[in-house]
Amino acid sequence: MNNSLLERRHRVIGKGAPLFYDEPLHVVRGDGVWLYDVQGRRYLDAYNNVPVVGHCHPRVVDAIARQASVLNVHTRYLHETVVRYAERLTATFEGLDMAVFTCTGSEANDLALRMARLLTGSEGIICSNNTYHGNTAAVDELSTTFSGGRTGSARVRAVPFPDAYRPLRDLSGAALADACLDEVQACIEHFRNSGIGLAGMLVCPIFANEGLPDVPVGFLERATRVVQEAGGIVIFDEVQSGFGRTGEFWGHSRAGAVPDIVTLGKPMGNGHPIGGVVSRASIVNAFRDRVMYFNTFAGNPVASAAALAVLDVIEDEGLVEHVRETGPQVTQGLRDLMAVHEGIGDVRANGLFWAVELVKDRAARTPAPDRARAVINRMRDHGVLISRLGAHDNVLKIRPPLPFATPHATLLLETLDRSLVETRDA
Ligand code: PMP
Repeated sequence: MNNSLLERRHRVIGKGAPLFYDEPLHVVRGDGVWLYDVQGRRYLDAYNNVPVVGHCHPRVVDAIARQASVLNVHTRYLHETVVRYAERLTATFEGLDMAVFTCTGSEANDLALRMARLLTGSEGIICSNNTYHGNTAAVDELSTTFSGGRTGSARVRAVPFPDAYRPLRDLSGAALADACLDEVQACIEHFRNSGIGLAGMLVCPIFANEGLPDVPVGFLERATRVVQEAGGIVIFDEVQSGFGRTGEFWGHSRAGAVPDIVTLGKPMGNGHPIGGVVSRASIVNAFRDRVMYFNTFAGNPVASAAALAVLDVIEDEGLVEHVRETGPQVTQGLRDLMAVHEGIGDVRANGLFWAVELVKDRAARTPAPDRARAVINRMRDHGVLISRLGAHDNVLKIRPPLPFATPHATLLLETLDRSLVETRDA
């Protein structure tokens, strides 16, 4: 690491600005699933979901460059690419047929909350108890991780996320789903009785930031129905789970739940800033009738060109099918590691997304955050990039760009094996 760059950064950006790894990485180039540091050393990127079709994918780069060299303006003019992207995007959803573009996932969630509150005339939002949905003031009220923490806002109530590993009252299966559903019901009652009223529920359909739990079958579908029947608007945050990550195009596809609004971000432009809200025309039109929502940079021709290229690449390179083929190989490899490493308490998987729970004691499930930190840093030293997540900061978070293939999986698993051995005493 170039210390003078670190010092300069601390001086002008501040020590509080988050940096990965004990020894921060100075990256200068990306290509597919690889990142290169300033010394030319190659790192396998098993962490970043934003470059969903791979770092600097030539088709995305070309689309951005071509459009940037012709025209970039806001969306108050007619533009073919902007409309074509909205058509292509909405065609990937069932029952949701209109898009509103934003620049970030936070803005998308902020807008979704505004829609829900305006259209229901109520304020109460249900979320999970260990989540992150972004950084605007309204969205921050929901977040418990990364941010300033829950604000104690009366208009937000959290339910325990459906966690089969450290479950509510030690329940499992259908009983756990029932208990989690009771919590949702209790929030609805609370909002009703307190006069706050129910605006809706905002959750990630795979509870990614919560730690990628094995969600009890039927929970999401039933929770969605309960909230909708109570007059609330159900928002699924697909910022992490969308665009093929789970082996389905959308993270909620397999849940059987039909949300009213879906929010998008991160992978949408492969790194070029674009996010969005996708909903039914009835909801978007009712909102637009009352609010002049305009977002200067959102969905501009360059952003739309980037996002359109992302859809093309996912389709042409068969990346969703690729996720379905590659995902189980890694999952099996991680389970094999669990058989030899006592420190792995649980392995959870969803497409090309894995959570490896590190524990001090398998039976007691005692979280091992120091070991997790040590493993991540050791893997970085060995040239493989991952991170961690979860309520206890002890869960290895593995979430590579989608072109991640078998040789990359082998390198990931070998490096994890080695790093677990080397951090036994951490
Ligand atoms: N929702 C989820 C589920 C996220 O993980 C994040 C970012 N980590 C966001 C929303 C916020 O997205 P952005 O940083 O683009 O505002």
